Amino acid sequence: MSTTFDYAPAPESRSIVHIRPSYGLFIGGEFVDGRGQGFKTINPANEDVLAEISEATEADVDAAVTAARKAFRSWSRISGAERGKYLFRIARIIAERSRELAVLESIDNGKPIKESRDVDVPTVAAHFFYYAGWADKLEHAGFGPDPRPLGVAGQVIPWNFPLLMLAWKIAPALATGNTVVLKPAETTPLTALLFAEICQQADLPPGVVNIVTGAGDTGRALVTHADVDKVAFTGSTEVGKAIARAVAGTHKKVTLELGGKAANIVFDDAPIDQAVEGIVNGIFFNQGHVCCAGSRLLVQESIADEVLGRLKARMATLRVGDPLDKNTDVGAINSAEQLAKITELSGVGEAEGAERWSPACELPAKGFWFAPTIFTGVSQAHRIAREEIFGPVLSVLTFRTPKEAVEKANNTPFGLSAGIWTEKGSRILWTASRLRAGVVWSNTFNRFDPTSPFGGYKESGYGREGGRHGLEGYLQ
Ligand code: NAD
Repeated sequence: MSTTFDYAPAPESRSIVHIRPSYGLFIGGEFVDGRGQGFKTINPANEDVLAEISEATEADVDAAVTAARKAFRSWSRISGAERGKYLFRIARIIAERSRELAVLESIDNGKPIKESRDVDVPTVAAHFFYYAGWADKLEHAGFGPDPRPLGVAGQVIPWNFPLLMLAWKIAPALATGNTVVLKPAETTPLTALLFAEICQQADLPPGVVNIVTGAGDTGRALVTHADVDKVAFTGSTEVGKAIARAVAGTHKKVTLELGGKAANIVFDDAPIDQAVEGIVNGIFFNQGHVCCAGSRLLVQESIADEVLGRLKARMATLRVGDPLDKNTDVGAINSAEQLAKITELSGVGEAEGAERWSPACELPAKGFWFAPTIFTGVSQAHRIAREEIFGPVLSVLTFRTPKEAVEKANNTPFGLSAGIWTEKGSRILWTASRLRAGVVWSNTFNRFDPTSPFGGYKESGYGREGGRHGLEGYLQ
């Protein structure tokens, strides 16, 4: 493609971020040494080691749950207005330190700075502001005259939106009077540890928020701990099922936010340029590491060639590279393991006969990278049409009638999100009412708002986070 000018590099400075050589666990309001072996967190864009992280053992998790239980006695009794003050304070500090949080998130996760700066961190602050507002109004939320908190919440989150998933978990839990022990993902612990510092800065009472780092064993110790009253998990369907089995028959209340394979449906009357932007945003935002990514494009056959032509032209303009460059559209894949998974499933797509296409783009020599990719000629039987790839890979299928579109969209074990592109309001309503998906976007995609509930059907999990609905999972 011919360009009229080249972009000069526009790197965001990383000097605003101070990363310590090593981190302990945040328990009872203080950083303490963990008892387990340490592990390293790296920058996925260049494989540099960023810091040594503690792996929390069962005994560490027990100490964190004990601290949370102790804090619960007073935190659950102070007035909602008082709890709200802390949450507003945390929200304000997040806004004040937003640049630092955004740079740190991009360094540890690999996501482009324009996304962490313009989407992740502002939405995190908005979440805390939103739930701060609920803290003194719980008796008007529709859950009875005197809604009571559950107790100690054990929360486990993934690596794709480290700080945003933390906000989705911690803000409603605290607003409703619960205390928490949160475990960030092993590849992206740094912003959760910076959030721990923000809790100190906000003078949050010790033990209300505890952060334990580690991998699956730490997560398992947390969700199976006998004194945890609520388990909130976001991650893969496989681990979600294991957690559901582990807590079955206990007193614990559970919410699971799991995987997805969303259909993004483009009808023949759609505004095509707008739809192409929505397709790009749906699958290449955050390198496609998005549970609700529009990873299956369903396009009406009569406009398929036109849409694909414009989509390819648009993809050729995507800039892949340094996450800290303000012009970057697609950053690094979060880990070597995730890159291997994306590479493997894309290989399966080719082997099963789908046609693979990527724009010409030079990938950095070091770090974990994958060019934006589309597969055409995909059938519903192909693995790339059924399994979550969790990367910048789009499977394109076609349909002839609205009925066929709905059938294909619902033909998945998942049910997290979907998109509809059409000029007709009646068609939006007809289609949306037939889609088995927790969130349906029309003429937009991947929009997140703290006031709006989010969650899945089927193997995408159960329970809702966000909005008034998000309070329910933390109340008796
Ligand atoms: P993952 O399930 O491997 O890990 C998620 C978290 O669970 C990590 O913190 C991990 O350490 C921990 N964990 C692993 N094994 C555990 C166990 N046995 N018990 C308790 N905790 C355990 O998932 P991932 O690869 O980090 O994240 C990607 C997945 O998350 C994708 O499938 C994606 O769709 C899903 N996701 C869903 C949502 C949503 O809201 N529905 C949001 C983001 C990501």
